[in-house]
Amino acid sequence: PPEDPLLAVADLEVRYDGAVQALRGVSLWVPRGSVVAVLGSNGAGKTTLLRAISGSLGNVGGAVTAGSIHFDGKPITGGAAAETMRSGLVQVPEGRRVFRDLTVEENLRAGGFAVRDRAAKREALTRVFDLFPVLARRRRQRGGLLSGGEQQMLAMGRALMSAPRLLLLDEPSLGLAPQLVHQIGELITEINEQGTSVLLIEQNAAMGLRVSDVAFVLEVGTVTAAGPAEELAATDEVRQRYLGGT
Ligand code: ATP
Repeated sequence: PPEDPLLAVADLEVRYDGAVQALRGVSLWVPRGSVVAVLGSNGAGKTTLLRAISGSLGNVGGAVTAGSIHFDGKPITGGAAAETMRSGLVQVPEGRRVFRDLTVEENLRAGGFAVRDRAAKREALTRVFDLFPVLARRRRQRGGLLSGGEQQMLAMGRALMSAPRLLLLDEPSLGLAPQLVHQIGELITEINEQGTSVLLIEQNAAMGLRVSDVAFVLEVGTVTAAGPAEELAATDEVRQRYLGGT
């Protein structure tokens, strides 16, 4: 692991209902300022890892049974989700769970609920609208009327409203057409260039490897490969199992 990473997961074990072991000693990290991808197929434990980091395992009957998670040098293992969020770590949920009956702008403002300062909130909104012009154009429209890609952008924009230091993205490409996947990838790069570190959980390995600096491959609860994204993309294992043998 690098020295003083923004996020450090060490030997993490997670069980559901005290029995099913979903993570079996996972170690990975996010160096400050970087984009890190976690790749893996269905059931590998990607969502479980995100839940452990965001502190939401308890809601679904899971628990950390061994290992640790440190954010910015401080332990957050078992920390409540709200507390973790206040420390600058925010998750964009899978399935773009936006508030369907609220307008785009109301959705975004809800994401900035913890930002007390009005000027800071306005600034955050401007920043999100700059990043996602389509959301600015649809600010008065209800969230439920947006397309899948726009809802993904709204979910990302909502998370960015609190100016997080680490953005956790859960399968942002899920169900999107290739062109939109490409666009979401470019937005991740831009968000990162503006100073936010990113942990990207992706089943779409090509997309994950394209936008990340470092990547980890998760299989049945353990990390089976890790390294600089470019190097990993060139290995036989990753090419055959995750990039369609190209
Ligand atoms: P997917 O991409 O399909 O969501 P994943 O890589 O995110 O897969 P997880 O959802 O983390 O994988 O699941 C890892 C393992 O934990 C699986 O065996 C799954 O059945 C189990 N699991 C996940 N959530 C629960 C739960 N709430 N209760 C019991 N077992 C669970």
